[in-house]
Amino acid sequence: MKKVIYLQKIGDLDTIILKKLKKKLNWFFKEFIDSVEISPDSIPLKESEYNPSRRQYNGSLTVRRLHKYCSESKHFRTLGIIDKDIFSGELKFIFGIAIIPKKQDLNSPEASLIQIMRLKEGFYNRPENKSQFELRVLKEAIHELGHTFCLKHCNNKCVMQFSNSLLEADEKPTKFCLSCSKKLKDLLGNLN
Ligand SMILES: [Zn+2]
Ligand SMILES: [Zn+2]
Repeated sequence: MKKVIYLQKIGDLDTIILKKLKKKLNWFFKEFIDSVEISPDSIPLKESEYNPSRRQYNGSLTVRRLHKYCSESKHFRTLGIIDKDIFSGELKFIFGIAIIPKKQDLNSPEASLIQIMRLKEGFYNRPENKSQFELRVLKEAIHELGHTFCLKHCNNKCVMQFSNSLLEADEKPTKFCLSCSKKLKDLLGNLN
C-alpha cells in the first residue's frame, strides 16, 4: 500500500483550507510518507451523528464512519476535516479524534478527524487571525495523524502534547520531539 494521507472534507468546507493543509502536510511528513492528497469524494454530514441537545456532532461516530470508508477504499491514512463543533463521550468538546492502530500494525488503513470551528477566533467572538488559524489547523492535523501512526500523548515540547484548551493548543510546537520523530521513522521505515 502506498503511504498516502487523504484529506477528507466532511460536509461544507472551504476547499482553500484543504489545499493549504495539503501543501504544509506534504512538507511536514515528506520523510515519513509518499504523499498527501485531497480525497475526490465528498462525505456528507450525518443527521444520526448530530446530538441536538448538545448542538454538536459526535466525533466518535464520525471517525468510525471514516474508518469504515478508508478500510473499504484501502486508503492508508485519512484525516477528516469538519467545520462543526464535535464532542466525544463525556468531553465537552474535542479538537480532534483518531483511531489508534491495534498492535502497532501500521499497514491497516486508519482514520482521524479534526474540527476547525473551535480553531477560529470568531468562535470566541474575537477578530479572525488567518495565519494563527492556519497554524492551529496544521497542528491539530499533525497531532491526530500522529495518533494514527501509534504515537501517544507526549510530555516533551512536542506536537503530541495533550491539549484541552485553545491556549494549550497554541502553546504546543508544530513539530515532533526527537523521541516521537524517531518512533515514527522506525515504525514507518519498517513498512513496505
Ligand atoms: Zn491526542
Ligand atoms: Zn513527543
